[in-house]
This record gives sequence, C-alpha cells and structure tokens, in this order.
Amino acid sequence: MEANLPAAIGFLAEVRQDSTRPHEPVFAARGSRARWHERTAERTLHTVLLHSGAPEAACARERGRTLVLAGELYNRDELTGLLPGRLLPGSDAALVSALFDVYDVHAFRLLNGRFAALLADRERAVLATDHSGSVPLYVSVAPGRVLAATEAKALRGAAPRGRPLAQGRPVRRRPGTRQVPAGSVLDIQVSTGRCVPHRTWMPPLARRIVPEDEAVDIVRRALARAVRARTGPGTPLVVLSGGIDSSAVAALAAARSAGPIDTVSMGTDEADEFPQARVVARHIGSVHQEITVPTADLLRGLPHAVWAAECTDPDVIEYLLPLTALYLCLGDTESDGNTGGDGGTSRDGGAGRRILTGYGADIPLGGMHREARLAQLDTAVCHDMDTFDGLNEMTPALSAMAGHWSTHPYWDRDVLDVLVSLEAGLKRRHGRDKWVLRAALGDVLPHEVVVRPKLGVHEGSGTTSSFSRLLADAGVPEDRVRQAKRMVVEEIYDQVVAEGRHPDEVALDTVVELIAGRTAHRPCPIPR
Ligand code: AMP
Ligand code: MG
Repeated sequence: MEANLPAAIGFLAEVRQDSTRPHEPVFAARGSRARWHERTAERTLHTVLLHSGAPEAACARERGRTLVLAGELYNRDELTGLLPGRLLPGSDAALVSALFDVYDVHAFRLLNGRFAALLADRERAVLATDHSGSVPLYVSVAPGRVLAATEAKALRGAAPRGRPLAQGRPVRRRPGTRQVPAGSVLDIQVSTGRCVPHRTWMPPLARRIVPEDEAVDIVRRALARAVRARTGPGTPLVVLSGGIDSSAVAALAAARSAGPIDTVSMGTDEADEFPQARVVARHIGSVHQEITVPTADLLRGLPHAVWAAECTDPDVIEYLLPLTALYLCLGDTESDGNTGGDGGTSRDGGAGRRILTGYGADIPLGGMHREARLAQLDTAVCHDMDTFDGLNEMTPALSAMAGHWSTHPYWDRDVLDVLVSLEAGLKRRHGRDKWVLRAALGDVLPHEVVVRPKLGVHEGSGTTSSFSRLLADAGVPEDRVRQAKRMVVEEIYDQVVAEGRHPDEVALDTVVELIAGRTAHRPCPIPR
C-alpha cells in the first residue's frame, strides 16, 4: 500500500493482567501485519496491526499509555490548534494520545474521522469508534482481560468467557462479543471488567431553517472540505456511478487536483450507467475506466460482501454488492500480505488506492424517499439515522479486502451534521429529491446530471433483480424471495463469520438450494 493510505486499517488488541498467549486472528481486510507485545506493571498489551507500511504511525506510547488507531482523522488542523506550545504530534495516533492527555475520554468528542481505537492506560482499556462507527469495533470482556478487534471474526476462538458487557450490540453467533456503538467510548476497568460508556456523537434531532442560498452555500463548503480532507497527496480515485452523489464528489475532487483524477464505473452484462458516468468524466476531465462484471460474478461476490461487512441485513448486502465486485476487480495488489510472522512485520508489495465514494448521501437527505410529503421524508431520515448503527455499511473492510482504503465524504461528521439538520423542505424542493445537494453542485456538473432523479437501489447495475432471479430460478416462490434473501445472507454469515470459512470456500449454489428447500416447505412468517 502507499503512504497515501492510513497507517493502519485494522487491529486486534488484547489487554490482560496476566501475560498473553498470542492469538493469530483472521481478517477480511488485507494489509501487512505487525505484532508486538508490551508489559507494564499493571498489564500486558498484545497487538496485531494491519498496516500499510508504517505500523509505528498507528501507535502512540506516552508514559505507560499506548494508543492503537486504525483509520484516520479529517480535522487535524482544528485538533492541533488545541495543543498550543506542544511539540506537534506527527501521526493521528499521537495526536489523539496528546488530546487524551488533556481531555481524557472527552478527546473523542473532538474528532472528525474514520477510525476505531483502543487505548491501554494503567488499569483502563478505552475503546472508541468514530461518530458513525464507520470502522466497526468488537469487544469481549472478562475480569482481567479485554479483547478488541475491528472485525468480529478476528475474535473467533479467543474471546474470553464470562458475563458479557451490558453495553454494545450483541453479535450473531458470537456469545460474549459486543459491537461498540457508533459515536461511543467504552471506558473499561481491566481488573473487574466494569464499563462506563460515553456517547460522543448523536445525529441531530432539531432541524435548521435557513434561506435557500445559505443552505446551498453551507452544503457546498462542508462537502468540499470533506473531500479535501480525504484526498491524500496521490491522485484520488472516485467510484463514479454517474448519479448526483458520486458525481459531486468527483467534481469537487477534480476541482482541487493539479492533474486529472481517476474515476471508475462498474456495470454488469445486464445493465450499466456507463453513458451517464461518461458525461461526468468528460466534464471533469478524469481518466475514466469502465468495468463490466458478468452478473454471475456479481452474485458470486455475496460471500465476500458478507465476510467484509459482517452484516446479515440483505438490503445492505445488496447495496454493497456492486462495490464489492468493483473493488475486487480493481484489486489485484499481488501479495495478500496476511503473512506476518511472530514479532515481525511483513510488507504488502501491492499498490492500494485511496478511494472516494458517494456512499450514504441518501440517508441524511432522504434520497430514497419517493413522495412529496415532507413529514414522510423526515420520518424516513429519522428512521435511517436511528437504525444505521451496526449495519457496517461504511466499513473499510469492503475495499481493504482488495487492498484499498475507501472513504465516504457524505458521512464526514460535519457534512452529516449539516445534511441531517436541514429542514426537509430543503431536501425535497421544486419537485426534486436531494434538492439542496443538486443546487450546491449546479456550477460544477452538467445540467443533465444535476437534474437526473435517483434510480432505485442498483437499478443501474441490475443487482436486486439478479439476486431475486437467482432465488426464483432455484424454486423460491415469488412471495418468499425477500425472506429467502435474508436466509441466504444469514447462512453465508454463519459460514464465513461464525465458522471462520473463507468466502471462496462458500458454495453459493448449495446455499441457495438449501434455502430454496426451506422456503418451499415453511409457512411464510410475517414480513419484516
Ligand atoms: P448507491 O448505493 O447506488 O448510492 O451507491 C453508493 C456509491 O457507491 C455511489 O455514490 C458510488 O460512489 C458507488 N457506486 C455504486 N454503484 C457504482 C457503480 N456501478 N459504479 C461505480 N461506482 C458505484
Ligand atoms: Mg448514491
């Protein structure tokens, strides 16, 4: 991977009062591995880090305190401004550690980033997620031992037995393991396992009333800043579907780039939005690539999507399928890097890319909402902002599976605060969905892109229909297709997350046959 990527993309860390027996975790994310073991009077800390070439930058040690951070920060300038007179910390991990010195757990309220972190400080193990939990973090606790990892499967076979934490979300088929909630800090006393939780971010509940021009200006500035903060020194790559969300990101990235940026669009042998994406690519002068994936290969990505996202929601897995296929096509970084030996580091020889997406814009803007009533639009926004946590839609593992780092400007903390809090009439206005976003990008995108309505979930790549057809062809009655999709995803989850199988070992046809057999003979339960 390049220096253009975060220092680390994942970790497993274990804090114990006694000494540790090393455990070799499995991750879907791919990267070089570093492992180390350190001892203080109060505890041992054993860490396995998935890194991109500079593992020391993902770790900060200060006076008996160690912080491990996977991911990156997007408000470094603001944060360093809080540490006047100090030697400015060189890495994001060092910056968070220095802030912790001053603010303790409240340091995490200050961060705008995409990260998961563990801090071992004397008797404490402090676990933190970013505002949206975009880098998942799992934990298992027993008195004297705290085990945490950025993927649930990494805890397989090692999680301590004991009374599970009351805090956090239970994890399917992993008794005792909890997922740290989005925008949270869990402050755990290692000796007792006692946990004090803190919320560090909540979706705004109030709505701001602002004039059109002002709203458009706020959105434009927030999004431009989020794109800038996510664009490293190299040439960014934007996954461009041709819709307004990713086109806006691509246009803003291109506007600040000295040379042409890279864009890539994916379609299937059944459907694509290549002409629409081409209009954008031509307009912004990007070096554009089109990748066509056969529908059968798209569906063969199902086990990989579940493996990376560790999610059993069939809708989410369906959203993630085109991206899974796209990342895997981009993704030949040659070595798998998951070969680090004990005590050492190994180097992944491939060239991982920093990828910007248009993911998630529809959630705060109610973009999937298809009717004009504003009450219903805000109901949809409230529901989605209340239920995103734990779905792992934004997980970097999806692209890291292929050696890349993806980041989503619409889920930047400040962008999200702005978008969620705008009154619904700015989101749907003048007969258009996502009006404020369209208006904000009117001057940098072609008119036809700005006014094009949102397509349904992956109508553009035929994902929903091809998954449905796979099940119908196997004999699932039409009224059970939705239920069968959930069962297929759960069965795959059980194999790749709970049982630890590699996704290449999942026989999708056999899973589909199994579920088709079950749905044919079971009475249909009440739909979700
Ligand atoms: P969607 O769920 O369709 O809004 O997609 C979310 C984001 O994923 C888009 O904004 C794009 O950045 C990316 N994306 C989805 N589908 C494609 C595709 N077929 N080609 C390129 N990028 C895509
Ligand atoms: Mg979109």
